[in-house]
Amino acid sequence: MAAPWEDVLRDTSAIREAAAVAVDAALLEGVLMRTEGEPNASDVVNFAPFTLLPSAVPRTLFEQAYAVQQDFNLLVDAISQNKEFLERTLASTIKVDDFTARLFRIYMQVLEEGLAQSVFLGINRSDYMFDCGVDGTAALKQIEINTIAASFGGLTARTLPVHQRVLKVLGKSKEASQLLPNNPSKGLALGIAKAWELYGSPSAVVMFLVEQVQRNIFDQRCVENELWNRNIRVVRRRFRDVFEKGSLGEGRRLYMDGQEVAVVYYREGYVPKNYDQQNWEARLLLERSRAVKCPDIATQLAGTKKVQQELSRPGTLESLLPGRAEAVARIRATFAGLYSLDMGAEGDQIAATAIADPNRFVLKPQREGGGNNLYGEELRQVLEKIRDSPERTSYILMDKIKPQPALNYLLRAHSPLRVSECISELGIFGVYVRQGKEMVMNRAAGHLLRTKAIEHADGGVAAGVAVLDTPYLV
Ligand code: ADP
Ligand code: MG
Repeated sequence: MAAPWEDVLRDTSAIREAAAVAVDAALLEGVLMRTEGEPNASDVVNFAPFTLLPSAVPRTLFEQAYAVQQDFNLLVDAISQNKEFLERTLASTIKVDDFTARLFRIYMQVLEEGLAQSVFLGINRSDYMFDCGVDGTAALKQIEINTIAASFGGLTARTLPVHQRVLKVLGKSKEASQLLPNNPSKGLALGIAKAWELYGSPSAVVMFLVEQVQRNIFDQRCVENELWNRNIRVVRRRFRDVFEKGSLGEGRRLYMDGQEVAVVYYREGYVPKNYDQQNWEARLLLERSRAVKCPDIATQLAGTKKVQQELSRPGTLESLLPGRAEAVARIRATFAGLYSLDMGAEGDQIAATAIADPNRFVLKPQREGGGNNLYGEELRQVLEKIRDSPERTSYILMDKIKPQPALNYLLRAHSPLRVSECISELGIFGVYVRQGKEMVMNRAAGHLLRTKAIEHADGGVAAGVAVLDTPYLV
């Protein structure tokens, strides 16, 4: 499944020229990130890292990923409404994983009080790699689904014209015209706008809940701009601001600085380091409110690695999506092998198998954001240490996906230009809105391709490992 520009990959002078064009095009198009040195100021910015060339993606697998996205939307939404499932599935995890336990406590507290929220907005991104079988055929395998703060829907759209330009510079105009249109931030904003409208207070605002350190602000601004274009007011606030200035009014309406908030869009709150005691209190306040949270705490829990692993058990999908056999089959076809490390014979056995053959697996804790998983020798050592302790239940095991590498150049500020063997991860954005029991929007909103050098086992764009890419369908 090679791309039709193998011929130029080793032509150093053509590549140099194209790379110079690419970097300027990226700055012009707004493929931007703030710098590590000044993460909260826009005076000096860099281009966000990206590949010089698009990467080949098998058309059938790309279409398969789009075709299953509405099913995943339904599944995540169903899990978020299934207390019995979440309670049972996370029971072992919350005994040993403090972060999941705290999220779970807020979830229970909000349910006990009774939900004030009646409109629900999900924005997720289901990520896949192309697993290369022994016979050389590739299969679409899900890595995970992100149900909170799924990012790069804005910058990926801006990477597309950069790659079109590069292909033209390299004499590949026909291929340039074949790159697919893609603008996830527009679809994300459509969902947010729909939720805002259904909330029903025209003077209420959309609040982006943002991190203390905001290097990826331009990606968020893309979604913001789409909302301003629809005359919807957007404010950016941190947990700290909510703690200091947030309050609940009549009917548990959420107010910030006296202004009603219709939708809270989290680009924060997915890792332990996002929280101190005050931030936990702010999170609880938001969850108790009538505002549409994207995601609500139940939907965040639906995106945990432990839930992902339980979904792969025979019968689980059927019970969560009754009467939807075709959706179940489409979803299941994307699952890699996933294994529980709960205490008992099943966990003992898979732990022993992984210790004996660590390169077959990935060991995953309940964390997001890249750089947390364990591989190879490190996996073996950690698992050996915790194999007889309940601590092991804070992890899951997953079959390691082995894609076919391809050559590309990864462009990063202050880095030398050199060819790398790379593998890619395809993400499909999903958006849905539910009012009470009725789904009023359910769609796929675009895609994201991220590519990294094979020497890195783990890590996304924000973690400084992967870079933005564009799929070229073959
Ligand atoms: P996170 O929530 O930290 O993003 P992921 O499950 O997406 O966790 O894993 C992070 C990265 O690790 C992925 O982007 C991918 O590069 C790699 N990875 C995860 N699972 C697998 C797997 N089963 N096989 C191969 N690589 C994997
Ligand atoms: Mg990931």
